[in-house]
Amino acid sequence: MKPAPFAYAKARSLDHAIELMAKDAEGRILAGGQSLIATLNMRLSAPTLLVDINGLSELRGIHRKDGNLEIGALTRQREAERSSDIARCAPLVAKALPHIAHPAIRNRGTIGGSIAFADPAAELPACLLALGGEVDVAGPGGKRTVKADDFFKGLFETALAPNDVLTTIRLPAATMDSRVGFAELTRRHGDYALVGLAASARKDGYVLRDVRLAFFGVGATTLRARKAETELEGRALDDDRIKVAASVLAHDLDPPPDVHASSATKRHLAGVLLKRVARQLDEPLS
Ligand code: FAD
Repeated sequence: MKPAPFAYAKARSLDHAIELMAKDAEGRILAGGQSLIATLNMRLSAPTLLVDINGLSELRGIHRKDGNLEIGALTRQREAERSSDIARCAPLVAKALPHIAHPAIRNRGTIGGSIAFADPAAELPACLLALGGEVDVAGPGGKRTVKADDFFKGLFETALAPNDVLTTIRLPAATMDSRVGFAELTRRHGDYALVGLAASARKDGYVLRDVRLAFFGVGATTLRARKAETELEGRALDDDRIKVAASVLAHDLDPPPDVHASSATKRHLAGVLLKRVARQLDEPLS
């Protein structure tokens, strides 16, 4: 199918992008186009204007700042995958990136595009949530920062207003006591996850602190399993403790069925992943 007609404008600067977006309530930002163009071609969306931000170098790059890692929204997924700063300061993201689609898609797809699109089965929104990161947003009303816990609102719905531009993703840089875990189950490598889990914690002596478990593929949006987190918080990990945490997942998750799996299967798979990822949380970063 061909997309519905739309106008196209190439932004010369972030301010210009905001100006263009403010003129058309049905406008959309065009980043890597790896999700947007598919939805246009299938007529799942019909924006009247595409504002192309691909020329904005100010939205690109990976920098360390004040104990955080700042990733420009337009940074390509593949560039992040090859970044030594990502490997060192955001090992959870480094683990997750190779699971996104295939290299050809990651060559164009951007970190910000994935977060803004907020597919409930996508890896990067879950990483942002698991790490307790935040995003910077710019719009006609000025700039603001939104915490990950407040960003994902519902199915493909975020705290972004229709004419906002996501500019930066900020993650706390990993330290010696950081622990992360990631696993997902897919039918084929590169597919969206049937169920996935991104997790982070801090090792304090023998116990875990600040445990954050962000599941994906189990609901309208990536979501934290707060009861399971409580079962792991401040505890040393052993098989019994991990089993208890997995057993309370039924209170955290109520996955709707999809074409691939029933609710019961997804709930079972979430428990399997929790057991795998909890073991990773006990291992020091390499
Ligand atoms: P675009 O497609 O350009 O935009 C997506 C949406 O986000 C649009 O609504 C756009 O307006 C908005 N947007 C983009 N950037 C901004 C911004 N800076 N500010 C405000 N709004 C913005 N993703 C996964 O996570 N896991 C997968 O397994 C996976 N598999 C895929 C398989 C295939 C075959 C394809 C084609 C894609 C797959 N993707 C997958 C999606 C891919 O990761 C996309 O790159 C990503 O979802 C969107 O990034 P993008 O830069 O291409 O954004």
